[in-house]
Amino acid sequence: MTGPSTDQGKITDLSAHLSGMLLRPGDAGYDEARRLHNGLIDKRPALIARCRGTADIAHAVNFARANGLELAVRGGGHNVSGRAVCNGGLMVDLSLMKGIQIDLPRRTARAQGGVTWREFNRETQLSKLATTGGAISTTGIAGLTLGGGLGWLMGKYGLAADNLIGAEVVTAAGDVVRANHDENADLLWGLRGGGGNFGVVSWLEYRLHPIGPVTSGLIAYPFERARDMLRFYREATMSLPDELTLFAGLLHAPDGSSLPLAVMTVCHCGSLGEAEAAMRSIKTFGSPVIDTIGPTSYEATNTMLDAGFPRGALNYWKSSFLENLSDAAIDTLVARFAVCASPLSGLVLEHFHGAATRVGVHETAIPHRREGYNLLVMSEWLDSGDNARNIAWARDSYDAMRPWLASGRYANYLSDDDGDDTGQSAYGPNYPRLQALKAKYDPTNLFRLNQNIRPGS
Ligand SMILES: Cc1cc2nc3c(=O)[nH]c(=O)nc-3n(C[C@H](O)[C@H](O)[C@H](O)COP(=O)(O)OP(=O)(O)OC[C@H]3O[C@@H](n4cnc5c(N)ncnc54)[C@H](O)[C@@H]3O)c2cc1C
Repeated sequence: MTGPSTDQGKITDLSAHLSGMLLRPGDAGYDEARRLHNGLIDKRPALIARCRGTADIAHAVNFARANGLELAVRGGGHNVSGRAVCNGGLMVDLSLMKGIQIDLPRRTARAQGGVTWREFNRETQLSKLATTGGAISTTGIAGLTLGGGLGWLMGKYGLAADNLIGAEVVTAAGDVVRANHDENADLLWGLRGGGGNFGVVSWLEYRLHPIGPVTSGLIAYPFERARDMLRFYREATMSLPDELTLFAGLLHAPDGSSLPLAVMTVCHCGSLGEAEAAMRSIKTFGSPVIDTIGPTSYEATNTMLDAGFPRGALNYWKSSFLENLSDAAIDTLVARFAVCASPLSGLVLEHFHGAATRVGVHETAIPHRREGYNLLVMSEWLDSGDNARNIAWARDSYDAMRPWLASGRYANYLSDDDGDDTGQSAYGPNYPRLQALKAKYDPTNLFRLNQNIRPGS
């Protein structure tokens, strides 16, 4: 059963109109196509449209709307909440759409909605260019950018969404529209943080920046030093140059030994001389057990944490911005990590400063522009028999941190059980404008499998 009014003839007709392929349960490739990064998600769409271009997307959207089917959109498939797939409806799968075009004179790049950051960086770095992407390379550019996009270059160049200068979008009506500074500027504003609410984004266009070798790596200390290292981190983040992005975490050793560690990860995108000076102050704290910081390529930086996030691992995340990182908050983080349920799990602090915080609250859909920290409680494990224990650890850790949580939350990290009504915490004062935009481009909320913005007046 596909939906209220679909029959075999209509499905055959859709299939004939796709230059990609239409998969149904039982078809070769169906199970691989419905799987996402998060192995906890196990949903079975009635139809998967593996699109090869904008026309395929338009046919699939029109089909879903006309036949009353639930519609899910998959970019890179990394969202932990798993809303890129649905049970029984139609999944628009963009993972075959890998086109990337660089315009060197304009220093811009256009890329299709199925591209990952690894693929994007590979092309832009040929010309020693890049834009802010995610911290790891396997995440999709589309979902990450549309939800905001924090990463190694954000102190210098802002969030990924701040670098989005244009898009091609298939709307709920099946129309193909362009959004840029001159055309549908309201839509571009909404796409810069408002997620997949306004349509399927077939192409994204980015501003690029010169990025040669960077200085990056991780520096780790025994867990016994965690309290002191996090205090040091708090001090260090008070006066960072824009070029230096500095995250901290309580994590386990990457060598599989399960050794708990206090870790700082860095990327400095300025000159090697400036980076060396900036690293000297980072390295004034204690005696590390691991120190990989040094000059390397931006591509290598973007993959340095990949091994910690294997595809198919089971994930459950909770996240919120922090009001402050007080001594008591640090003590709580240390106490919660001491009872961590899996060697893949961790507690991560992502520091926002520089260009990412100089954009006005209303300039883009994403309002979180204060200098400070985002807390990510990252529960990740391999054995489904351990689901309850690992989910409970994440929830309990998040609850323990409540006294220091801010009201704002990063849309891209919201989990499925955060509810459908997270608009206010994700978008704050921009929510009413986003609701009006949603009413204009998707009045019936066809695109609702996302961090949903309810159509408003
Ligand atoms: C291991 C890991 C590391 C991460 N690291 C970072 C990080 O460093 N920085 C950061 O900011 N976030 C990070 N994230 C979060 C990430 O930004 C979100 O999960 C994001 O949604 C992933 O985008 P995707 O295209 O891969 O995901 P998908 O699951 O494919 O998409 C997520 C949602 O985005 C929408 N969407 C996707 N593509 C399109 C499109 N083309 N058109 C319209 N809507 C679309 C859909 O609503 C979809 O449900 C990370 C997540 C994971 C699992």
